[in-house]
Amino acid sequence: MEIQGLQKLTLLDYPGKVACTVFLGGCDLRCPYCHNGELVAAPAPAVMDDRELIAFLGKRRGLLDGVCVTGGEPLLRPGIGALLEEIKSLGYLVKLDTNGTHPDALRGLAEKRLADYVAMDIKNCPSRYRETTGVPTLDLAPIQDSVSFLLQGSVDYEFRTTVVREFHDENSFAEIGPWLTGARRYYLQSFVDRDTVLQPGLHPCTQEQLERFAQVVSPFVEQVELRGV
Ligand code: SF4
Repeated sequence: MEIQGLQKLTLLDYPGKVACTVFLGGCDLRCPYCHNGELVAAPAPAVMDDRELIAFLGKRRGLLDGVCVTGGEPLLRPGIGALLEEIKSLGYLVKLDTNGTHPDALRGLAEKRLADYVAMDIKNCPSRYRETTGVPTLDLAPIQDSVSFLLQGSVDYEFRTTVVREFHDENSFAEIGPWLTGARRYYLQSFVDRDTVLQPGLHPCTQEQLERFAQVVSPFVEQVELRGV
């Protein structure tokens, strides 16, 4: 399997763990604010293959607690289960990032205990979801299915939203809160502009706006935090 990126050390990507982050290119969404513009188109250029990744992880045993698997959308890869099995067999914890469009694959990996922690993007409230993903015809049913599965709590998880001034306002969070009722953790992440963002000209919200949005969601979920602000 081709690997499109490897960050050899991160103290941020896996909450409370020392980890590395593996980037798998290719995505079925086109979020205008996506930072990984060079990763979402398939095929994106590879930096190594899965054999080289497993060799790297073999050498890092005892130094890293976990491996974050992100994208793109990792669940698009047919070989993701086999790769996670190998990573787990080396003794690592696995954090899986997903956009929620592949609930059956998510459920299958979680039931086999191949993911210890799942971070699912909540792009926006249902009424603004499609515009925020850049896919006007997007079927929201699989995303709802992934949300419902994670809310059951059989695998540890967080929901998170990257907040962009052009897509999110207080009404967005007034809808997201009730949608995620009972969730364990919800993070609001501020959009940061970069050269690799798919659509130029987007902006972050202010710290005060983010704090207000967190307040709007907090009655509905156990823990709400701002991240990276
Ligand atoms: S932000 Fe995530 S889900 Fe959206 S296009 Fe980028 S990789 Fe895909």
